Amino acid sequence: MDKRVVVAIDGPAAAGKSTISKLVAKKLGFTYIDTGAMYRAFTSYVLDKGVDPKNEEACCKLIPEVSIELFPDGRVICSGKDVTRVIREPLVSGNVSYIASYKDIRLALVELQRKLANKVSVVMDGRDIGTYVLPNADVKIFMVASVEERAKRRYKENMEKGIACTFEDIVADVENRDRIDSSRAFAPLRPAEDSIRLDTSKLNIEEVTAKVLEIIKEKVGE
Ligand code: C5P
Repeated sequence: MDKRVVVAIDGPAAAGKSTISKLVAKKLGFTYIDTGAMYRAFTSYVLDKGVDPKNEEACCKLIPEVSIELFPDGRVICSGKDVTRVIREPLVSGNVSYIASYKDIRLALVELQRKLANKVSVVMDGRDIGTYVLPNADVKIFMVASVEERAKRRYKENMEKGIACTFEDIVADVENRDRIDSSRAFAPLRPAEDSIRLDTSKLNIEEVTAKVLEIIKEKVGE
């Protein structure tokens, strides 16, 4: 593709967004940007500092101290510390939606997200990419799957990564995050009006990847 292409992939927790976005970006030679990793990195910083994640004012005070870098190999560095692994732990997952509901933190991270998507073709995944971060994206996909299916996939992923949890913990986490993410006042999780809904419940990774590539091709050509 000659022109710069921007692909926004949103949807509830563990719908397969990051797995698919990574594969699609690789296939097309685009940059993949995992915005969830940024909110997770901020959360790990808050927890490290011993700040209460439910205290908005105290969390927002940390904004000037936090720097977040995402590397092509998936590493996430937050204010000099490698947080790649810790941001996937249940403690971070259980608190990230509080942090992500604070407007000032969102504004700081959205600025970074827009900067990263400014010059290159990207696949960016999150909750508000099509509605708020990149409203002019060429392609907007809203990826969904049943809670049962999403929890199954995330449980398997955690087992493979050696992250201790129970299946029930995952169901509770996914439902809790979806509830907080959908009901927050600023840039909540919801499909953009011009997004294409893709239900991945009954599809495997290859099938979803193929569908997304097909949608991109239809929208922007070869
Ligand atoms: O994508 P992931 O599940 O890793 O995101 C973790 C959390 O970060 C979400 O549950 C949500 O609270 C927050 N998030 C967000 N907006 C984004 C990406 C993630 O609020 N664009």
